[in-house]
Amino acid sequence: MNEAIPFRQFIVKIAARCNLACDYCYVYELRDQGWRNRPRLIADETVVALGRWLRAHAERTGLRTLDIVLHGGEPLLVGPDRLDTIASELRAALAGVAQPRFTLQTNGVLLDERCAEVLLAHRIRVGVSLDGDESAHDRHRRGPDGRGSHAETVRGIELLRRPRYRPLYGGLLATIDLANDPVATYEELLAHAPPMIDLLLPHATWEYPPPGARTDETAHADWLIAVFDRWYGAPVRETRVRLLEDLVDLTLGRSVRSETLGLSPAGSVVIETDGTFERQDALKAAYDGAAATGLDVFRHDPATVLAATTGAGTEPSPTCRRCPVLRTCGGGLRAHRYHPANGFDNPSVYCADLRALIEHVAVRVRADVRALVGPERRR
Ligand code: SF4
Repeated sequence: MNEAIPFRQFIVKIAARCNLACDYCYVYELRDQGWRNRPRLIADETVVALGRWLRAHAERTGLRTLDIVLHGGEPLLVGPDRLDTIASELRAALAGVAQPRFTLQTNGVLLDERCAEVLLAHRIRVGVSLDGDESAHDRHRRGPDGRGSHAETVRGIELLRRPRYRPLYGGLLATIDLANDPVATYEELLAHAPPMIDLLLPHATWEYPPPGARTDETAHADWLIAVFDRWYGAPVRETRVRLLEDLVDLTLGRSVRSETLGLSPAGSVVIETDGTFERQDALKAAYDGAAATGLDVFRHDPATVLAATTGAGTEPSPTCRRCPVLRTCGGGLRAHRYHPANGFDNPSVYCADLRALIEHVAVRVRADVRALVGPERRR
């Protein structure tokens, strides 16, 4: 069972709207419609209350660094001046107790030099969502008028690649689409020289299964295995791929803090623009209100929020507890376990994919370990 470890990562929704209308977006296009009732942008008094709450959390836990992910919607909708104010307020609130380590997740469309200067001033590292080449990206990531966003996103990435802003470039985040060739997608992302690539399985539940695949098939595993073989088999490490690195680490017996894999709790919590706390953002893909806690930064202290968002209800299902790859798999992202008949007490809807992928990675990694230690042992 997951123990209540203190939150280290705070996903702060500074904007509750987006300038794109991506068709797979868990916030706006799937089951949860809570965003309709929230402030479009986080208010000053909410940032002040959040700063106080974070300071109390750091004092209580002794943590010297807090990871603060500025998120949305599209976080850059706040504009550079508000972004500067928000980062300054949170930094000041933590002064003398802990350091904020800021990141920001964006679609890249609104990245410009003015914005990049604010990001630089606060050392805010930026992750950009890019699904592949123009046809792959624009199949899903379009504006409300239906126009693709690929060209504007790539322009934003190129800004981050300039020498002045390069330290801000955190990486690329791609949602897997079986319609795209896996190796071509990886190589397209690699062409933008990201320090890290994140690959996401599209959000799905037993009620709404993965797009383009039957749940007893391993189409998503096949896709990821092709990328793994290309990435792992390269003569030099071309970039980091978080999901694949986590798989290798777990196979080698290391622990990984991830919502997606393994049994260690991720230690993160979401703060919406109205100051309410929510559980994993992906739960919004399950049903309306699935992520809600009823707690907020104004009225509830860190111990209360931690107790309400960890522990009971997060354990793997009975099927998963008997599974030989549970230690690596963890039972899948909680949202992906959801079935309207019995809630979250199920294996992941990606169970067949996860098992196939984990076993493939294990075979390759263990073969390498044997090749490395074998000669030593024989001596
Ligand atoms: S592979 Fe399937 S049964 Fe095994 S832990 Fe993962 S989700 Fe559960």
